[in-house]
Amino acid sequence: MSPSGSGEKNASGVGTWLAPQRAGIPTPSPSLVSEPFWAGARAGELRYQWCEACGVAVMDPQPACPRCLGSELEWRVSSGRGTVSSFTVVWRAPLPAFQVPYAPAIVEMAEGFTLLTNVINCEVDQLKVGLPVEAVFVDIEQDVSLIYVQPDEANLAPGHDQLAT
Ligand SMILES: [Zn+2]
Repeated sequence: MSPSGSGEKNASGVGTWLAPQRAGIPTPSPSLVSEPFWAGARAGELRYQWCEACGVAVMDPQPACPRCLGSELEWRVSSGRGTVSSFTVVWRAPLPAFQVPYAPAIVEMAEGFTLLTNVINCEVDQLKVGLPVEAVFVDIEQDVSLIYVQPDEANLAPGHDQLAT
């Protein structure tokens, strides 16, 4: 038997496992507005903003609510759970420092905001719209942590009693 592809590396060394990036890629430069988000990442928290006035969850970090323009945004900590609503797979690195493949994805988070990130810790073949994911935090440099998502094993496990009605 000679399976062609999945899980193996081809002649150029490209596999199908989605791994976090390594040091050397461009990293974020937090602004006054986004610093709490990045401080959260370093602390292992996915933080988002909440507008008390109109009850909307906000991402990316904003100085004012994008819906009502209110400035009373408070920082909250997300459960980290979400669902992939769209994704793509990048096979050609935009810069030599990027490891491929990687999978940018739009994730609908449980709290109602949308997170643009990358899915890691799974095979390319596992990606699908509707995949339950959870946030995972990766230190890439001193003082810089990136927030990825990975398949949420708890919600993937077939252990639920599906016969119960
Ligand atoms: Zn608002």
